Amino acid sequence: MNTHDDRPKKRFGQNFLHDPSIIQRIIDVINPKPSDNIIEIGPGKGALTKPLLNNVKQLHVIEIDRQLANNLAEALGHPKHLFIHQADALNLDFSKFNLKQLRIVGNLPYNISTPLLFHLLEFSSYIEDMIFMLQKEVVERICAKPGNKQYGRLTIMLQLHFDVEQLFIIKPGAFKPAPKIDSAIVRLMPLTSPRYPILNVECFSAIVKAAFSQRRKTIRNALKNYLDEERINDAGIAPEKRPETLSISDYVKLANLYHQLKNRQL
Ligand code: SAM
Repeated sequence: MNTHDDRPKKRFGQNFLHDPSIIQRIIDVINPKPSDNIIEIGPGKGALTKPLLNNVKQLHVIEIDRQLANNLAEALGHPKHLFIHQADALNLDFSKFNLKQLRIVGNLPYNISTPLLFHLLEFSSYIEDMIFMLQKEVVERICAKPGNKQYGRLTIMLQLHFDVEQLFIIKPGAFKPAPKIDSAIVRLMPLTSPRYPILNVECFSAIVKAAFSQRRKTIRNALKNYLDEERINDAGIAPEKRPETLSISDYVKLANLYHQLKNRQL
């Protein structure tokens, strides 16, 4: 029985889907099959959970809000194939399910979407695909091309490991309460190996982080603690370029050079 205050909690980014045609459109994109290992992040009151349950043999859901997690099974009629984990998806070890080829889906809380995507990167070898609703601006950052204003660290870290695709836009009226911004659906499909061969993941992360913490500077200035102008030139990159104009393969070249330098191989 729901005896609690069930007003949406802003701190958990709770905007609940209520438009049946949008819910169906998302389910069509997910295209759940009985044997799929689906994990839903943030089931809330079950808008997506319910139709997913109709299509799969088992469904794991991760909900941080204890009250929503406690109410969900009852709201959905205690389905035996629903496994509710009251947990913070940001800290969750996605390898613990002992399942491979995970399909991770959800209408994600917008306040944690970027750190959550970085967290999920660590589990890309367990993932078959991910289909998320996010704020449109974040989806544009994920799918951006070099030279574009949205192109940045999130773009590069994700596109190195995933094929990404923006699917469709959802207007605020599909949610209660309505957010102030548009949302979009994105699909991320892990690559079997990184898009370009990288020698060391930590060096790559460090180079990309440094480049975009100094976005308005030239790449020479942004990376001055990592690579000198000559090395940047050696990688075939003009040192006066801006960080957002370099391609992912440029960053891989710079990171590989940095790794070799660090290990005194150059
Ligand atoms: N899926 C539901 C829907 O579409 O109506 C709810 C979506 S709502 C935008 C986000 C949900 O994620 C909420 O239920 C919220 O409590 C939950 N949530 C927020 N932060 C979370 C976290 N760190 N880990 C797991 N769930 C979280």
